[in-house]
Amino acid sequence: MRRIGLSKDYTTVLATHHQDEFGELYRGFNAMLQEIRVRDEKLSQLATTDTLTGLANRGHALESLQTMLTRAQRLGGAMGVMLLDVDHFKQVNDTYGHPAGDQVLRDIAHILQANVRAYDLAARFGGEEFLVLCEGADLSATVDMAERIRAAVASRVYRLAGGQTLRTTVSVGVYAGAGSHATAMQLIELADQALYRAKQAGRNRVVHA
Ligand code: GH3
Ligand code: MG
Ligand code: MG
Repeated sequence: MRRIGLSKDYTTVLATHHQDEFGELYRGFNAMLQEIRVRDEKLSQLATTDTLTGLANRGHALESLQTMLTRAQRLGGAMGVMLLDVDHFKQVNDTYGHPAGDQVLRDIAHILQANVRAYDLAARFGGEEFLVLCEGADLSATVDMAERIRAAVASRVYRLAGGQTLRTTVSVGVYAGAGSHATAMQLIELADQALYRAKQAGRNRVVHA
């Protein structure tokens, strides 16, 4: 019990064969450890998840990007970053209402989840912007994935209560590579510049840095 108190390793379980009050004490202690584990799990879920979409939140995405980048730089591996922004989203809110806008964001989150690989990370980066991190992906793999996502969003038809239908598109900026001195924020900045060019070029398209 003293060791658990010092190490804060709450995954431990105390073994007990005691049938006396010591046994009771140990079982109580184990129950407490179990509750701490459940709470830790819930807290970390709350701290890393975006509540609207269930995707990773911005803070978690930036942390993962840093880890991925450090690993890619150390081992010389590839990695891709894509930044997506919903086109004319203000118009969606203005025309159909904020709840419809929220539904579109949740739906895009599903499309992202369905199109990234198990070791990629899809995150809500802010308002109507999403970030996808593709571990081990080179430029062509990242662009292919971005194009698949863009097409899936563009072909989705939303049916609103009242019979109206709504369609939307996304623009995507892609950067791939892990330049030996690049920082996480520089990678995002490069993807953001490509995203800006995708908007300038008419939206609903993928542009790479
Ligand atoms: P562009 O094609 O240039 O990206 O145009 P846009 O209208 O998408 O860009 P703008 O930045 O003007 O508008 C973004 C809108 O996203 C404005 C804001 O109200 C909306 N928004 C941000 N977060 C949320 C959200 O959580 N839910 C809803 N429904 N709307 C949101
Ligand atoms: Mg935006
Ligand atoms: Mg937008």
